[in-house]
Amino acid sequence: MATLWAADSDNNGAERLTIAVARPEDQIEPSRCALGVSEGPCRCWRAPFQVSDHGTLGQLILCRRNPNAPGADDLTFVEMIGQLLAIEVEQHERTRQLAYQAHHDTLTGLPNRLLFEDRLRQALEAARRSKSIVAVLFIDLDRFKQINDTLGHGVGDALLVQLARRFEGCVRTTDTLARHGGDEFMLVLAHVTGHQQVTRVAGRLHDMLRMPFLIDGRELFVSASIGASLFPADGEDAETLQRNADAAMYWAKSTLRNSFQFFNATVNRAALERLQLETHLRRAVERGELFVYYQPKVDRHGHLAGAEALLRWCHPQLGLIPPVRFIPLAEELGLIVPIGEWCLTEICRQTREWQRRGFPPLKIAANVSALQFAQPNFIPMVHQILVQSGLDPRWIELELTESMLMGDVDAVIRHLSELRALNLTLAIDDFGTGFSSLAYLQRLPISVLKIDRSFVMRIGKTGDESERGIVSAIVTLGHHLHMDLVAEGVETPAQHAFLQTSGCDLFQGYLFSEPLPPTLFEHLMRGGTVPSPLWRM
Ligand code: C2E
Ligand code: CA
Ligand code: CA
Repeated sequence: MATLWAADSDNNGAERLTIAVARPEDQIEPSRCALGVSEGPCRCWRAPFQVSDHGTLGQLILCRRNPNAPGADDLTFVEMIGQLLAIEVEQHERTRQLAYQAHHDTLTGLPNRLLFEDRLRQALEAARRSKSIVAVLFIDLDRFKQINDTLGHGVGDALLVQLARRFEGCVRTTDTLARHGGDEFMLVLAHVTGHQQVTRVAGRLHDMLRMPFLIDGRELFVSASIGASLFPADGEDAETLQRNADAAMYWAKSTLRNSFQFFNATVNRAALERLQLETHLRRAVERGELFVYYQPKVDRHGHLAGAEALLRWCHPQLGLIPPVRFIPLAEELGLIVPIGEWCLTEICRQTREWQRRGFPPLKIAANVSALQFAQPNFIPMVHQILVQSGLDPRWIELELTESMLMGDVDAVIRHLSELRALNLTLAIDDFGTGFSSLAYLQRLPISVLKIDRSFVMRIGKTGDESERGIVSAIVTLGHHLHMDLVAEGVETPAQHAFLQTSGCDLFQGYLFSEPLPPTLFEHLMRGGTVPSPLWRM
């Protein structure tokens, strides 16, 4: 209970009036109240004070030596104090809430990036004084996007909340676990004894993921890649330490999912290379360093029947950079959207040019990345490119992957139907690696299945019965659904023979030709043979 106000209305204190504030549950006994009233009889009154949406916050205690009841003036006065108090409390509460929101993640309630960085700086200052070690851990969930995309954001959010509670359970109160955004978490460990202790903490975090998460009656498993950097060895300041923990996490993820990695010289070199590649990639389109190569597809009679367009990057200093090195990076940076747009434009332009020059028309397949496909303006963009090129859309095939077709079935069907209405062909690339069911495929306007190279690769090797079985099943299934079957990665006559017998319609692979630059592809279209593997990369 705190005295707010006390005043004597006469000189000798006989009329002393005291006002105090108490908690709602406080019981005030008039005889023991003695709010500044030292002796003689006194009377107390209580008046609750309220804040609009918080109910009764406390009570005002009015105490007076004079045993008479308070007059109307006294009561008005108390009421006014009550109102002022309510305003003050409300203001205080709002400020507190704003401060909390500014420093915490609304979904998980964990500290956010801002508070994390603040705590990290404090930990570093303390460590500089005490010459101790601080560890920064960067935790990133593997394939979380897939959960979000296929099961919806509600499930993804529920998973993040459960995960935050589990992670919280395995750190000390002196450590700070924060949500860095999306599916990334950060952890700062103060007063660390060395690498071993950090490895143990990372192990505990991984252990937390062994048990499934139960969400909407569904059991879900996630794994996480973790990277760590230590102060002072891996960085002197918060920014460097976070960047290096991130680089270590990235390395962990790219080598083996669900693993842990400390920052070191190798990680550093890889991060620098990646950064360099990133800078160059951003300028690759405008500098005209990207090219499209064409890999022929042949039919059952060995005739040229089409081609797949494949991107190539030729950097003046770094040389030829294969798609496996730059396409995942371009996807991660969102650069695949402008790159994909450029690529489709170039493919349509080239195909149209070949037709204008009198080459027999061929269907050319373009690869579409998941990110491109997910852009709200993807279909209008494709439409516009087709119109501007003046090419008949039936000469373009778009290769999609199974993972793009997961999620809301009706939405996928609508999307594909709109795309199909542009009069181009839709194919599923790398078929057999995803989870498409027969019933599902039947509902999609897909006309081509490309059997994944991993099945074709094993044909002709000892113990290839299951691959042969899978290929035959895919061909039967595809034909049943009136689709054309393309076998890719055909390298040997034995593979070709088996695929022929199975009933595949088209064949693509090094056995026939590598992807070729347009001039060499023209040579092939003229009926020429393909030169030796000059162009492999
Ligand atoms: P993909 O779509 O599965 O393309 C087939 C890959 O297999 C190509 O690799 C091709 O050169 C290679 N290949 C063809 N025949 C054989 C063979 O007989 N043996 C072996 N070992 N490999 C063969 P590439 O050109 O390196 O492309 C790799 C991946 O990069 C592609 O896989 C595709 O996912 C992606 N990619 C290429 N170009 C583009 C593009 O323009 N846009 C997008 N989004 N992705 C592209
Ligand atoms: Ca492809
Ligand atoms: Ca493929």
